[in-house]
Amino acid sequence: MGQERRKCPFCEEVVLDNATVCHYCGRELSSTGGEGGGGGQRTTWQTVRTFLIIVVVAIALIALVFVIQRLLARPAPPPVMAILEGHLATV
Ligand SMILES: [Zn+2]
Repeated sequence: MGQERRKCPFCEEVVLDNATVCHYCGRELSSTGGEGGGGGQRTTWQTVRTFLIIVVVAIALIALVFVIQRLLARPAPPPVMAILEGHLATV
């Protein structure tokens, strides 16, 4: 009966597949699969990354609003209004 072995994601040492704690570095090992590294830290990093993306999008939206407000606040009157006023005055 051969026991399955896998790599510890923290110290890269080969440990038994059913081990819950790494024999070499003493870290807790997840029982479901052993692919990829990070463990619980990955969830935190994903949350931080999602938060950063939201912040960047919010800053981009605020910048866009500022640019639109600057364009709309130009002192030059739109020529369409002058044409309409002239047309109304003749009628
Ligand atoms: Zn280890």
